[in-house]
Amino acid sequence: MNADTASLAANWSQIRERVDAACHAAGRDPASVNILPVSKTFGPSLIRAAVALGQHRFGENKVQEIRDKSAKLADCGIDWVMIGHLQTNKVREVARLASEVQSLDRSELAEALHRRLQAEGRAIDVLVQVKTSHEPSKYGLPPEQLPAFLDTLRGYDTLRVRGLMTLATQTTEATEVRGCFRLLRELRDRVGAQGHDLPRLSMGMSGDFPLAIAEGATEIRIGTAIFGLRPYQAA
Ligand SMILES: *Cc1c(COP(=O)(O)O)cnc(C)c1O
Repeated sequence: MNADTASLAANWSQIRERVDAACHAAGRDPASVNILPVSKTFGPSLIRAAVALGQHRFGENKVQEIRDKSAKLADCGIDWVMIGHLQTNKVREVARLASEVQSLDRSELAEALHRRLQAEGRAIDVLVQVKTSHEPSKYGLPPEQLPAFLDTLRGYDTLRVRGLMTLATQTTEATEVRGCFRLLRELRDRVGAQGHDLPRLSMGMSGDFPLAIAEGATEIRIGTAIFGLRPYQAA
C-alpha cells in the first residue's frame, strides 16, 4: 500500500498541515520545525516524485540503500541523511555519500568516520543519538555520557556537531513518549550551559511527532505518513 505519486502530494500537504497545527498548539512558529522525509524501503521513482514536490533531503537507515539510491538518483542533487544504526565497517561509504549522520552514538564510530572523512577531504553535519528510552533494543549514547562525548567530538574537525537525535519508547503511553522527548531537550539545555551549542533536536516520527513538537523538536523524521506503509508493515 505504498503511496503513488498522486497521493504523495496529498500526503505531503496533509502532514505539513498537521505539523503546523501541532506548532500552533505548542505556541511555536511552524517555520521552526522541518520535516525530514524518511524514504527507507521506497524506490527511486517515489523519491523522484518527492523531489518534484521540492524535497532534497531524505533519511535512510541502511548504508546499502544510500549506495543504491544515490547511484540511481545521481541527477537529483539529493542530500542523504543517515538515521539508522551505523556499523564502524560501513563508514567508508557514508563518508563518501552522506551529507549528514544523525545516528552518531559512540566514540569508536566518531573516530572511524573522522578518519574516512579526512581521506575524502569532506566535513559533514552530525547529530548525537541519545538513548532516552529504557528499551534494551534501542541504540544511542547513554545520557550521562553526553558531556564527555561532546568534548571528544571537539577533536574531530570533520564532524560538525549540530544537535541531538532520539527515538522515543514505542508505546501508546503518551506521557512516557513525551518524557523521552523532554529528556532530550533538557540534555540539550544542560550541555548548552557547558558551552556546547546544539540548536537542532531531531525527534518525533509519524506516530508521535505532535509530542516531539510540544517538547521543542526542530526536525521530525517522517516515513509512513508521507510514503505509506513500508512493505514489511503492510505484510
Ligand atoms: C523509519 C524511521 C523513522 C520514520 O518512521 P515513521 O514511523 O515511518 O514515520 C524515523 N526515524 C528513524 C530512525 C527511522 O528508522
